Amino acid sequence: MFNLILFGPPGSGKGTQSANIIDTYGFKHLSTGDLLRDEIARATALGLEAKKYMDNGQLVPDEVVIGMIGAKLDETQDAKGFIFDGFPRTTAQAEALDKLLQEKGTKISVLISLEVPEDELKKRLLLRGEASGRSDDNEEVIAKRIVEYRAKTEPVALYYKEQGKLEQIHGVGEISEIFAQIKNKIEKAMAAN
Ligand code: AMP
Repeated sequence: MFNLILFGPPGSGKGTQSANIIDTYGFKHLSTGDLLRDEIARATALGLEAKKYMDNGQLVPDEVVIGMIGAKLDETQDAKGFIFDGFPRTTAQAEALDKLLQEKGTKISVLISLEVPEDELKKRLLLRGEASGRSDDNEEVIAKRIVEYRAKTEPVALYYKEQGKLEQIHGVGEISEIFAQIKNKIEKAMAAN
């Protein structure tokens, strides 16, 4: 199995590039943001609770997202691999993910980090907000999400760097060129696995 974390701040292109990766490699996509928005759309208790944090630009509590990912891993049999998008976002989530994968006899193969400067992130997220109407893509919440990312999520890259699994990519430019670099990193990790 090949398990990949696509990592980066909000607006770095994780969703866009996940779609490219899935088209090429057929991995199963697990996006905690998408799963949470689905819970909100279905007005579940979990969704209503999570919405309070999301609307405020804060991370949803670890146990909620870890529980969601654990359930998805359990219900997905015979996947070639997983692409984790927007998860793990804290070191506690990374530790929990490593444990869940270990129980399944597998592990994270590589973390690919999309590096994008902050002014570019803000520009992209504002444009996305206009196009999609995503309620957390407004100036005030974007600023909070980026602060949350720097404080709690960036350490996750370091956690996997210590395992020798961090690969960094400059995430500005043509989508196809960025994807070509991602493919290089995936092929390299596949050859090493
Ligand atoms: P995203 O679609 O990945 O940008 O996520 C949107 C929002 O959902 C984030 O700002 C968080 O409030 C919440 N969220 C998504 N994934 C996680 C996660 N792994 N841990 C905590 N909160 C999350």
